[in-house]
Order: sequence, then structure tokens, then C-alpha cells
Amino acid sequence: MSEKTIFRRIIDKEIPADVLYEDDVCLAFRDISPQAPTHVLVIPKKEIVSVATIADEDQALIGHLYLVIRNLANELGLGNGYRVVVNCGPDGGQAVDHLHFHLLGGRQLKWPPG
Ligand code: 5GP
Repeated sequence: MSEKTIFRRIIDKEIPADVLYEDDVCLAFRDISPQAPTHVLVIPKKEIVSVATIADEDQALIGHLYLVIRNLANELGLGNGYRVVVNCGPDGGQAVDHLHFHLLGGRQLKWPPG
């Protein structure tokens, strides 16, 4: 069996995280190295490596993650806007092989990204 990712270990409570939201299918916690005043990661509990391996049957789950992101953005006071980022694969800059949505806000974000 392949080694657990750091996010699987967070889901399994083997390592601590600053958890903001949790339900049966997902978890949201603050990024350990924030790139904005608010930087939260929203992840499915299901093992999905990246956007590239989302299955057709995951459609409702992915929609649910976006509703969680919307609710968190409201609760965290990001009414002036925010960015949701999903890095995919080596060229996308993905470092952890467990699907995750970055919720970034609290400052003016630049475009284009690096
Ligand atoms: P990626 O580069 O794969 O899109 O994003 C991975 C994110 O996970 C990075 O922003 C990184 O700071 C965050 N991260 C890596 N290890 C940990 C950890 O142990 N705890 C938390 N809370 N975030 C982590």
C-alpha cells in the first residue's frame, strides 16, 4: 500500500490541523504556510489524487465542496472577494497528491499567477 499523504494523515487525526469545518465527506483547515491573510484548504475525505482523476460519480461531492467554500468565505468575512485555486499535477504546481481547493482572501490578489 502506498504511503499516506499528509492530508490523509490530517483527515485521520494523526497530525494536528486548525480545522474550520468538517462533515462526513470533507474537511477544511488553515494552510500551514498561508499565502494570504485567509488561506484555507478544503479537501474531500475520499481518496482523489487531483482534478485529473475526479470520477464522474464525484460530481455531487465536488459541488458540495464548492458550497462549503462559499459558506466558509462568508463566515470568514471575505465579502469583498476571494480566489479558489486548484493546482493539478507537476506543471500546475501540485505538491500534495490529494485533491484540495485553496481558498485565498483578505488581500488584493494579483493576476496572472506565477
Ligand atoms: P499544493 O501546492 O499541492 O497545491 O498545496 C499544498 C498546500 O498544502 C500548500 O499550500 C502547503 O502549505 C499546505 N500544506 C503542506 N503540508 C501541510 C500541513 O502539514 N498542514 C497544513 N495545514 N497545510 C499543509
